[in-house]
Amino acid sequence: LEVLDECVELKDRDNSTTPRAKHGRDLAEFLNSADADKEFNLVYQPRVCSATGDTKSIEALIRWNSPTLGQVSPAAFIPAAEKTGDIIWITEWALNAACATWTNWRDTQGRQMPLSVNISPVLFGDPRLVDTVSRVLKKTGFSPRSLQLEITEGLELHQHKTAAGTVAEIKKMGVRLSLDDFGTGYVSFAFLRSLGLDCLKVARKFVSKATTNPSEGAVLLAVRELGHRLGIKTIAEGIEDDVHANFVRALGYDEMQGYHFSKPVPANELANWLRKHPAVV
Ligand code: C2E
Ligand code: MG
Ligand code: MG
Ligand code: MG
Repeated sequence: LEVLDECVELKDRDNSTTPRAKHGRDLAEFLNSADADKEFNLVYQPRVCSATGDTKSIEALIRWNSPTLGQVSPAAFIPAAEKTGDIIWITEWALNAACATWTNWRDTQGRQMPLSVNISPVLFGDPRLVDTVSRVLKKTGFSPRSLQLEITEGLELHQHKTAAGTVAEIKKMGVRLSLDDFGTGYVSFAFLRSLGLDCLKVARKFVSKATTNPSEGAVLLAVRELGHRLGIKTIAEGIEDDVHANFVRALGYDEMQGYHFSKPVPANELANWLRKHPAVV
């Protein structure tokens, strides 16, 4: 139900359809037979420095244009793919497409453009994830240090006994790690510290309510404080206007992301953004 609620919310945003409202058939069937190169594409959203406005990195977000269902939101099909196991090849497709697209892009210092790719937390219990990441890095020549994996703070993360080991192997490659939608899940402080995170992204819902509701503002402040004390960068997503931006900047968030700066856009449009707002890493 939560997923469907989110679909409705997302439908208003990007004209996506709610698959089940349109078709009785299971979404998973269409997903399993999807032709990735034809039906999937990636859009990119910049992450900007709160202090300077420079681009700090870009996040890849997947889109599915199904010939039968139309545009399906990732908030609907990613959970379905997690259940069926299709998530592993979808992840490899997304990682590969993102790294291949940006491998030759440089920041103002000539360093590689930092890139974030979302990885479902269920994959931290999958021994194939480490091989997938290293295979993509090898194939595309993308620098591990410029790649960041965003894991959603799902229940699955610490349920898997192998998650800590997977995280350690990924860190050993030099790849960075970020915890997404922080504040909505189940990660304990002990587990959070053990992950060796580079970034904490506070969930959008705290940002959207913070300027009118003091208790949401208190959560934002607490997350920023936790990050700073643990030496982890803090990022606020869902910045939609100046009020949000000024609020999280005043709280001391390192980076911001949201429609106020740019919606997620195709790579060629993001390249235009980067010409106007060069990456300073
Ligand atoms: P996320 O990683 O937390 O991404 C942020 C979501 O918020 C994106 O939705 C983005 O389009 C949206 N967003 C960004 N700025 C704003 C804003 O200012 N206001 C509002 N209202 N929304 C904003 P999207 O692209 O629909 O993705 C939803 C979720 O699906 C992502 O949340 C992520 O968890 C998952 N996802 C997306 N792409 C992938 C992927 O390639 N792999 C995996 N495993 N998950 C993905
Ligand atoms: Mg993300
Ligand atoms: Mg998020
Ligand atoms: Mg999310």
